[in-house]
Amino acid sequence: MIRSIRARVTLLFLLAMLSALSAFAIGIWLRQRDSVDYRELQRYVQSQAELAIRIIMQAETRGPVTVVRDSLVGETLTSELASAMEVIPDYLLVIDRTGRSLYVSEKARALPDSDRNVLFSRALDIEADETRATLLTLGVDKLFLSARDEKTSRSSIARIVAGSSARPTEDTWRESQIALRRSLLVLLPVALLIGGVWAYIIGGVAVRPITTIISELEAITDGRSLHRRLGGADAQGDELARLTSTLNAMIGRLENSFGGLRRFTADASHELKTPLTVLRASIERAMMARRGSNEQMECLEQALNEVTRMADLVNSLLSLARADEGRFDLVRDVVLLDSMLRDIAETATILGEPNGIEVVVSECEPLTVEGDAPRLRQLLLNLVENAIKYTTVGGTVELSLSTEQGAAVLTVKDTGMGIAAADLPFIFERFWRADRARSRKSGRGGTGLGLAISQYIAQAHGGTLTAQSRLGRGSTFTLTLPGAVRRDVSRPETSPPRVA
Ligand code: ADP
Repeated sequence: MIRSIRARVTLLFLLAMLSALSAFAIGIWLRQRDSVDYRELQRYVQSQAELAIRIIMQAETRGPVTVVRDSLVGETLTSELASAMEVIPDYLLVIDRTGRSLYVSEKARALPDSDRNVLFSRALDIEADETRATLLTLGVDKLFLSARDEKTSRSSIARIVAGSSARPTEDTWRESQIALRRSLLVLLPVALLIGGVWAYIIGGVAVRPITTIISELEAITDGRSLHRRLGGADAQGDELARLTSTLNAMIGRLENSFGGLRRFTADASHELKTPLTVLRASIERAMMARRGSNEQMECLEQALNEVTRMADLVNSLLSLARADEGRFDLVRDVVLLDSMLRDIAETATILGEPNGIEVVVSECEPLTVEGDAPRLRQLLLNLVENAIKYTTVGGTVELSLSTEQGAAVLTVKDTGMGIAAADLPFIFERFWRADRARSRKSGRGGTGLGLAISQYIAQAHGGTLTAQSRLGRGSTFTLTLPGAVRRDVSRPETSPPRVA
């Protein structure tokens, strides 16, 4: 297993090159092997036959071209013509009308008897064609023959057959084959070597930015350097630039969540530290007080309050932790939103009474959604509690339920102190409170987790929770839940909402 990309790229490139070059070499070799080119030789044989005819015709203009030497040999070419014919170096036969040879070139005479007989009989029966040469296999040799019939001759010459061996052509071809094979055997490794070196260099150049990114990443991922970003290959807009920007975005998200985690841990410890300190002081005082005295009861009551507060806080933290893990399991049921809203309004009226806060339900359409009734109730209760908590004496809290494009829209509107525009983006963050000190002192000691949990509940239902507010004028929290169904109010409630 090769570990470096550079080595792998080089190897793959070499394999690709090897296969391409091999295919190329095999292609060339196959083409060469199949085609010994005899055309040149055929043309040569034809030209030799042509030459012989011309020599004879010329000789005929000067006188008879044949003589009778003796009764045994019969007619032959004149010695003058015979020596003129010697200029044709290969096989040449001059045949008379009776099929006897008038002249046999030296090369043909040198053939063994059997081969000469074969040559002679083929010479008699091949076609006299000016455009073709006929192949004749003689033992190990091959001859190309070209015949010409001499019809106009005044002498007894009837046919001329010229021939030439294919061996030199084949030898030349064989040599070129060997030369080709040799050059391929030499060139192939050389080409592979050059290709390999280049692939290694190119691989190195291509991988270098990745190596840079790896070194930079190694320096960043120790957790404390998450504010740093990769700068390496961002100029070109190529894949590496995309990788860099994706990694940078990822580091950004990591930085945020690390920061969030750090803040969360600090906040959570701080939130637990205060009630623990109070609890400790209360218990100490209770221990010192006289048994059963009023002071002891007061201290224990205070301790109980703090324990309740801490239990609430721990419960909220647990809900958020579950939500973070994606274990915010919802029970899916039909929830009668209008009944729930009226129920909540009643609770709000009781909560608002001490401060003379009026609670009104301005609109309440009979709607149902699929969802987790206790969770939705927790959400609405939290909004209503906040509205009462942050509304001054004599204020109003208005609740409404309507539909908008198939979604249920629940609003909780108050005439309270409102939230500054600069604070508005943070109110759904964990532990965020507009004014911690004041909240605690004024008895509005919330944990700063209520809205964070509420938003989780809304999102888990596929809905949204948003806030609008103006400092000193009041706030409106809007919960939108998809899949609202209008309920038939003439029928009794079939599935009453479960109360948390
Ligand atoms: P808390 O337990 O402090 O109420 P929440 O998460 O419910 O925590 O709210 C976060 C902060 O948002 C509050 O501390 C308060 O500053 C602000 N806030 C929430 N609801 C209202 C409201 N109706 N009017 C004014 N401020 C609000």
